[in-house]
Amino acid sequence: MRTPLIAGNWKMNGGLASNATLLAGLLGDKTELSAELAVCVPAPYLAQVQSALGGSPVRWGAQDVSAHERGAFTGEVSAEMLQEFGCSYVIVGHSERRSYHAESDELVAQKALRAVTTGLTPIVCVGETLEEREQGATDAVVARQLAPVLDAVGTQLTSMVIAYEPVWAIGTGKTATPDMAQQVHARIRVLIAERDAEGAQQVRLLYGGSMKPDNAKDLLAMPDIDGGLIGGASLNAPDFLAIAHAA
Ligand code: PEP
Repeated sequence: MRTPLIAGNWKMNGGLASNATLLAGLLGDKTELSAELAVCVPAPYLAQVQSALGGSPVRWGAQDVSAHERGAFTGEVSAEMLQEFGCSYVIVGHSERRSYHAESDELVAQKALRAVTTGLTPIVCVGETLEEREQGATDAVVARQLAPVLDAVGTQLTSMVIAYEPVWAIGTGKTATPDMAQQVHARIRVLIAERDAEGAQQVRLLYGGSMKPDNAKDLLAMPDIDGGLIGGASLNAPDFLAIAHAA
């Protein structure tokens, strides 16, 4: 039985005052959730979320991590540092990092390995562009992105979460239909099962890409969709909670 995970990706949004309001909104919901809730925030706000969410069931994490352990890597943040701020999760390989920061599949794999080695759960993002989908290359792209990650983490693959995020659906208001998303999720599970049949049944596969309160239920009802990575809608407590309640 996989516990659904609803993880928010705040991206480069927020401020001390607006974060406090958002976090209070999340903590104000006292109804029981069957999903686990997490927020992945900009690194400067980790202390704030640690202090606000510590002792609550809501977990938190970061949006990127260095592939290196420590040293002369100006601007980077290490997995150990994230751990010191109580992070459970870290997003790696988000399409915005792959495209704006030229992160390769191999670098993403090294970051995932660094996270796992340090005891953090990486949320590894994979997904095709619109052009790749139109060329019928979705499965090939996802397999290419996933292979170095599975090679790197080896027997620890159950310590990861994978997020399928079609690039054309991120922040665009276009969502993959539940059937389209399920097809890719099932394929991802098969790719993992080729390495570890038992582990594949445990790994949570999230869908990300314009998931909102009004489409979450149908997406989350699919057998291989174990939660969501939520961008825009995670910035509004009622919307984020509505998605969590749909899980
Ligand atoms: C994301 O940034 O990972 C994401 C899924 O964004 P949005 O929900 O806004 O499409």
